[in-house]
Amino acid sequence: MQDSDHRLSLGRARLALVAALSLTAALATAMGAAAETQDLVILHDNDLHGHLHSFCYVETGVRSTEACGVGGAARRATLIAILRRKARAPVLLIDAGDTSTRGPLATRYEGLDEVAAMNALGYDMAAVGNNEFKLRDGLDKGDAPAAQAALQRLIAGSKFPWLCANVTDDNGQLLAGVKPFVVRKVGRLRIAFLGLTTLKSAHYAQTKGLHFQDPVEAAAVWIPKARAEADVVIAVTHLGVDGDQRLAHQTHGLSAIVGGDSHTFLYQELNEPDLDGKRVPIVQDGEFGANLGELKLRFSRSGDGPWMLADSNDRLVPVNQTVRPNPRVAAMVEGYTAPLEVRVGALPQIAADAEGRKRQTADVLAAAWRSATGADVGVEPDEAPYDAFRTLVVTRYQVRAILPFHEDVITAPLTGAALQALLAANPRPFVGALHLTLRTEDIDPARTYNVAMVNAVTELLGIAGAHDSGVETRAALERFVAGTGAAGPTATDLRPGAGVPSPSQVGP
Ligand SMILES: [Zn+2]
Repeated sequence: MQDSDHRLSLGRARLALVAALSLTAALATAMGAAAETQDLVILHDNDLHGHLHSFCYVETGVRSTEACGVGGAARRATLIAILRRKARAPVLLIDAGDTSTRGPLATRYEGLDEVAAMNALGYDMAAVGNNEFKLRDGLDKGDAPAAQAALQRLIAGSKFPWLCANVTDDNGQLLAGVKPFVVRKVGRLRIAFLGLTTLKSAHYAQTKGLHFQDPVEAAAVWIPKARAEADVVIAVTHLGVDGDQRLAHQTHGLSAIVGGDSHTFLYQELNEPDLDGKRVPIVQDGEFGANLGELKLRFSRSGDGPWMLADSNDRLVPVNQTVRPNPRVAAMVEGYTAPLEVRVGALPQIAADAEGRKRQTADVLAAAWRSATGADVGVEPDEAPYDAFRTLVVTRYQVRAILPFHEDVITAPLTGAALQALLAANPRPFVGALHLTLRTEDIDPARTYNVAMVNAVTELLGIAGAHDSGVETRAALERFVAGTGAAGPTATDLRPGAGVPSPSQVGP
């Protein structure tokens, strides 16, 4: 991780110089005074969350229907090469955190697959996101030393620096291997990139022994230190748009904020005033690498005066099927996905549209929880699965896309009246509609049912008396789909409230 090796080819640097000189001349003429400008392009993404492979996605800001072949490191590599070629200025490639976790590969590689791709794509730096602390999660989240060791492996495997100025250990030291800021020289302009991360990680089991400082307080300490080594400072943050706005409002001396965390598609940059009333552009690239952000910045100065931000313009460029995957990166991605591309079962039918597939996936999961535990009822909210079944054949990769965490099925006793009360609130925000393996009209309010579900549901719905069944969710789902499909239960069996197969009917 060298701070000084920015990856600018001589050709690009020369192009940039020509562009800068002509701009300088134009400005000098316009202003009637000697002025100097420097352009820079920042390609940025955030919250990739393990989307190493292309995926299907509804980008609600653009269209209401699902598109497949979205994102993925191989298409992103091609787009980066195109934008680098077209750029008339030096280019830096920056990730604003949450590269790993939640993806289908997360528990298998703990982010090392993402970092390998980022190394190959030539990232210049990345901010530490809250999910970089959650490389061990679910049943494994209590082992803070293991989670922190996984983060250390991630950092050690990265050919680019990770930035975070507001987390320290018990000795007051910044996270090992992590830098508060790095300085890059672009032409004659020295730019410091300062990393800040969200406070929400402070309460994670995985961050035991780490101390989180308020990002605005940390910025007040670190911006002057960065300014001592650079002409301008750009924050690379994982604070969410609200946090980035607060950061802009409450600091002096930031020229731009490249952010993440809130998964916000800022199709147009925000411009917020800082403490001096100077505007600070804030950019964010939504989530999962469905797009790539392209932030164009122009800095200028008069004579030996201070460098100032003169202009900015950001756009989100789609990473979709029109972008051909880079074959070398695609082969690398396949190397990581191939071990999981094994058939584990089949479904008797697949719904025609995305909404239908979402509901169907919840139905299958609810049936799988019941089947695996022998509970009376299985429950699954349709917003809980991280992906949906799309093909009749089910692979381990799909199972892990739907269930990215290492978790067990939970059971809890609930009266029929309590179940009816839960259903009365359907659907609810962030949870969606609850899918039960029991028809509403068949619920006996006086009876107590043993209900099987995932841990997130017991927590979200505040269900007491939860019991860990000891059956892993992914194993439960694999066993269930192994017994479905052509030889297993029919489509009718998977409808909510239909006769769901008992454990003895769905194999071991
Ligand atoms: Zn995120």
